[in-house]
Amino acid sequence: MTQTTYQPGEIKGLIEIEASKCKGCDACLKFCPTHAIEGASGAVHTIDQEKCLGCGQCLINCPFSAIKETHSALETVINKLADKDTKVVGIIAPAVRVAIGEEFGLGKGELVTGKLYGAMHQAGFKIFDCNFAADLTIMEEGSEFIHRLHANVKNEPNAGALPQFTSCCPGWVRYLETDHPELLPHLSTAKSPQQIAGTVAKTYGAKVYDTKPDKLFTVAVMPCTSKKIEASRPEFNSAWQYHQQQGQDVPSYQDVDAVLTTREMSQLLKHLEIDLANTQPFDGDSLFSQYSGAGTIFGTTGGVMEAAIRTAHKVITDEEIAQLDFTAVRGLEGVKEASVTLFDKALDQEVTIKVAVVHDMGHNIEPIINDIIAGTSPYHFIEVMNCAGGCVNGAGQPIDTSGSGW
Ligand code: SF4
Repeated sequence: MTQTTYQPGEIKGLIEIEASKCKGCDACLKFCPTHAIEGASGAVHTIDQEKCLGCGQCLINCPFSAIKETHSALETVINKLADKDTKVVGIIAPAVRVAIGEEFGLGKGELVTGKLYGAMHQAGFKIFDCNFAADLTIMEEGSEFIHRLHANVKNEPNAGALPQFTSCCPGWVRYLETDHPELLPHLSTAKSPQQIAGTVAKTYGAKVYDTKPDKLFTVAVMPCTSKKIEASRPEFNSAWQYHQQQGQDVPSYQDVDAVLTTREMSQLLKHLEIDLANTQPFDGDSLFSQYSGAGTIFGTTGGVMEAAIRTAHKVITDEEIAQLDFTAVRGLEGVKEASVTLFDKALDQEVTIKVAVVHDMGHNIEPIINDIIAGTSPYHFIEVMNCAGGCVNGAGQPIDTSGSGW
């Protein structure tokens, strides 16, 4: 397995099938959103890397454990934690804290935020909760949506395409880039919480941590294998570009230096002999461990949309939404839809916003896309997540071998 940190240059071939273990059972085919897996039934299968999104759903659903990742930053992170000249910042995604406990004998789905902070603090990480960045993402994405909505209602030129798509799932972003590039103007321009966190950590965070940005090493801890590809995308070096503009001549670095999945973080803690189950909870070491409930729900299907609607309601009407839990977009139906009618002060008229939430993308997105192409889509804003159930069921989470499902 390649030990890696990310340099500009996107990872290719993150997920591979081991020929010696593959039985050709076809189980993986049901979970691949892009039909990237090839091979006759009963014969060894292979992955067409041009089509693969790196989502890893095949990996966690292969009954013979024949599918593996080719990249891990585990050894690099261990070395960085031992380097006294480097401050290592751990960016913790929402879905990790409800899954990692089971790797340490705690109950399935148990929320272990304080213990995870404590264990990572003991390992030497600075704590940067990705929920803090998710709050920033939703302010960006919500503001962008309101801007597009207003410009479209007023028929302004270059109003921005509606419906607007969420942009926080790298599997979805890649799918749109490869299969429907003509719809890219619909994608929100907001970065994902992972990438916002990396950028903030290496700009404002350098002041908080009282160090130079090139002495910070950012490690995203994610439920998702595809986040490794996202971190390696060449355009995600905004902090370095910012510092170049400030006249600082430092070697190029990515905003997120490494990504560990939930499984890999568990391996790291075990390697360091830190028992998360018996770790004292820790509150965090900076403002980066503070966040709202909106940031927290990003990890589940419907969460991004619910957070966006709450924010849009407040900005458009100047009032908090009366019903905080926007439950119409929760649950596990493949496509959920809802609408909100509110009085828009800026437009001086009532508007009805229609939203849709799509997960298990491979099975559910194409009819939605066909409607947009045909000009018949009723929606203004659409959340899309590749994995069934959202990131809580990402391919970096602990693998359930009990057969009881998640
Ligand atoms: Fe990754 Fe979440 Fe998208 Fe799955 S739904 S590919 S876990 S970001």
